[in-house]
Amino acid sequence: MMTLRFKLLFPLFLLLTVAFMYSNYFVIPSYVQLIESSKIEEEESYIDLLSRAILPDLLESDLANMYDTLNKVLSQRKHWYSLYLYNPEGIRIYPLEERYLPKNIPLDPLQKEVVFNGTNYATVRLMLDIDATTNQKINFIQNIKYYVLLMLIFTFLFTLLLLENFVSKPLNYLTNLANKITKGNYSARVKTVSRDEVGLLGNALETMRQSLNERAQAIDYYTRIQDTIRLVQSKFISEHEQRHVVFLELQRHILLLTGCEDGFIGELLHDDNDQPYLQPYFLNKVLRISSEKAMVFNHGHTPEALSDMNSLLGKIITKGQPVIDNGPVVKPEQLGFPVSPTLECKNFIALPLYSGYKFVGVLCLVNRQNGFDLSMYNELDVLLQALAQLIVAYRERQNLVGSETRLRTVIEHSVEGIISTNEHGIITEFNSAAERIFGYSQEQIKRSHVNTLVPSGLIDEYTRKFTLQFIHTQARQIHIESEATGLHRNSQEIPLEISISRVITSEGIQFTGIVRDITERKRNAEKLNQAYADLQEAHELLEEQNRRDALTGLANRRFMEEKLRYEWQQLHKPGRNDAYLTIMLCDIDHFKLYNDTYGHPQGDLCLKQVAGSIAKTFARDNDLVVRYGGEEFMIICPNTSPESAQKLAEQMLQHIRAMRLAHEQSDSAEYVTISVGITVVHSSQINDIDLEQTIQRADAALYEAKQLGRNQAVYLPTIINA
Ligand code: GH3
Ligand code: MG
Ligand code: MG
Repeated sequence: MMTLRFKLLFPLFLLLTVAFMYSNYFVIPSYVQLIESSKIEEEESYIDLLSRAILPDLLESDLANMYDTLNKVLSQRKHWYSLYLYNPEGIRIYPLEERYLPKNIPLDPLQKEVVFNGTNYATVRLMLDIDATTNQKINFIQNIKYYVLLMLIFTFLFTLLLLENFVSKPLNYLTNLANKITKGNYSARVKTVSRDEVGLLGNALETMRQSLNERAQAIDYYTRIQDTIRLVQSKFISEHEQRHVVFLELQRHILLLTGCEDGFIGELLHDDNDQPYLQPYFLNKVLRISSEKAMVFNHGHTPEALSDMNSLLGKIITKGQPVIDNGPVVKPEQLGFPVSPTLECKNFIALPLYSGYKFVGVLCLVNRQNGFDLSMYNELDVLLQALAQLIVAYRERQNLVGSETRLRTVIEHSVEGIISTNEHGIITEFNSAAERIFGYSQEQIKRSHVNTLVPSGLIDEYTRKFTLQFIHTQARQIHIESEATGLHRNSQEIPLEISISRVITSEGIQFTGIVRDITERKRNAEKLNQAYADLQEAHELLEEQNRRDALTGLANRRFMEEKLRYEWQQLHKPGRNDAYLTIMLCDIDHFKLYNDTYGHPQGDLCLKQVAGSIAKTFARDNDLVVRYGGEEFMIICPNTSPESAQKLAEQMLQHIRAMRLAHEQSDSAEYVTISVGITVVHSSQINDIDLEQTIQRADAALYEAKQLGRNQAVYLPTIINA
């Protein structure tokens, strides 16, 4: 519409403008010129006529008649302001007196020769106002341009009017609406203004408004959902309200949001037989059931409450999928649970609540004006997730409360002191065992620094140790055990065994020390150590006594056996490929005779003296002198070569001789002498000879010494087995 209007108007406007210009500058001037030139021709032909009329008078020189004619013509033609007649000599013959011409009118001159038969008789000169006769026509022509101009102005005004009415006004209207929309006011509908472009713009605006409105409503919806979630979460966190109160509040918000008449949130639980049942947090109007049945329903696992697993509620519990029934009437038996008889259930939806893959509960909604469809599922998506999380969170909180209570009981009844601190060392936990150990009550010590329990001289050392072990370790849970000294409230130091754990909890780092008072144990340990030491001493004494011969103080045969076994093993040791073991056997010469001569007690004394002398000769730590038999001795010398052994034996003989113990009856000398048999084992021989054979070999050497006349040493190398 508008397009047509303006499409026509603008060419018209243009056409009129062109017409105006054309008429003004081309048509009108040329037309005026045309009129004027035809008038001049007309005037000229009139003058011509006039000159022919006056010619006879001129020829007859009847001037009076000619003047008459001229006067008559002048009086008739008002726009002829003057008419002059000149004879061929140029002398004016008419009029006789000068005429004065008006000065305010532009006059046009015209001149005409009066000629007859080629002779010029006079010249007519005329001053006339040609416009005076053409003006009317010219005026008319001139006016046309004003008509065109008028039409132009009219068209212009008309266009303005149209613009105002069909463009400006509707655009203003749309602009206002657009402003409102920009400010978030989507309520005002955009009226259809016209069916032209502006109208289309209006329609587009309306479409935009509608979609913005829908979006705003959706955003509003989600904002309300988010607000609801936030509110309920804050209630959960603040712990001011009980769980069912929080869920009731949530339920109320959900009903408002969804426009449902009723509904409930239920937690999915399992009974002792692992059968699922629904535990509603709160039942409202429609779902308010008789108290007896409410109990049943609340403990839903009884057959009355949910006998029919094909009922709506039964289905969702068993399948975990959304269930919808849009009525028009949903009977209680269809629902699967008893409802209030006073209110009718028209439609119903049950949406499962999932926390991850875990089916934790159900949201049931009842009586919505337009019924339910699965889009609810998407609409409430966030809310459903939050609900599931809330259910799980409450469950976990219950578990936590349970485990915290358990932990508290364990801590309180622990026989060991338990002290917890935060990461700054401020005591947060102090059980009764710790109270007994340190002499502070919980109230007295809580919020104090743990260093209160450490002797001041040890604080630096402990802090350093502690820092080393804990602060530079990133491990989440570490544990150390050590002994430490604590400080009792009475300033006494307490020996402690302490084990510290670091645990990173949601509230930050926590150190827990388990402390054991080991005063008593320390005291006992000291006593025990003393007792052990005493016992050890006694034992060693006994051991020593067991190893010694009573008369001579030399090693006895038991000791000898140990020593021989040990040295024999030493020879076998890897790396000992050039080691010796010397064994000597000594026997006092003619001792029977000595006894017989000087008496047995003197014999004993002699034995002691000889033993002492031998022991003096073999004073090395590793050498062992043994009282082998009555008056026989064995000497065990490790790391002694045959040459050294023979030298040592000679020294021994010499020492005994030097004592000059009188033995008058002896064949060998006037004093007591001994005979010695020597043998030496090399480490290379150990696979060819055993210990017994070696001793026999020493015995054989002794026998030889006796045979050779006594008072001497004989060396025999060990026998190499064939
Ligand atoms: P031989 O030169 O051949 O050794 O002659 P012997 O008399 O020493 O012979 P034998 O070795 O057979 O005699 C050992 C004697 O030593 C016998 C015993 O009276 C004496 N005797 C052994 N033990 C003791 C002891 O403890 N005290 C004393 N007084 N005599 C002892
Ligand atoms: Mg003997
Ligand atoms: Mg003897």
